Amino acid sequence: MNAKIAKALNNQINMEFWSANLYLSMSTYFEKEGRKGFAHWFRVQFREEQEHALAFMAYLHARDEQPVLGALAAVPTEWKSAEEIFVAVLEHEQKITALINDLYALAEQEHDFASRQMLNALVAEQVEEEEGVRQILDDLRLVANDGTGMLQLDRELAARVFNAPQLGYSYGD
Ligand code: MG
Repeated sequence: MNAKIAKALNNQINMEFWSANLYLSMSTYFEKEGRKGFAHWFRVQFREEQEHALAFMAYLHARDEQPVLGALAAVPTEWKSAEEIFVAVLEHEQKITALINDLYALAEQEHDFASRQMLNALVAEQVEEEEGVRQILDDLRLVANDGTGMLQLDRELAARVFNAPQLGYSYGD
């Protein structure tokens, strides 16, 4: 595999694990606030990000590369409100989308069509990620400080079910 692409894919693995840690950290804010549904939503998000990282790892193995796991920077631990958190989540997902787009452009530039193909699923996944987060942010702004609305939103988020994202590559376990 092209060394530039292997390095960029390895960076993305770390970024996905960092995202997982970020969401797990955000779950602690809600758990502490007694908003169990939000906390659950973030733990599902944490597991999804781990699956993204594992998909990149499995793909590298499929291409006869050994994934390299690096040090992860500390994630934020303090926020003032649910809205502040979801604004940060949306910004973070937009940043991830930009990184996936850069990877895609690199794969095209280097004529690595297998990597381009692998990234298609991630491109689609990012559209879903951003859409889902934007919807929750809209809902949060709609209910604002209304307790009943907030309780209903918390119960809605409590119903989120973890489904491993189908990204075309996995270890099969
Ligand atoms: Mg991700």
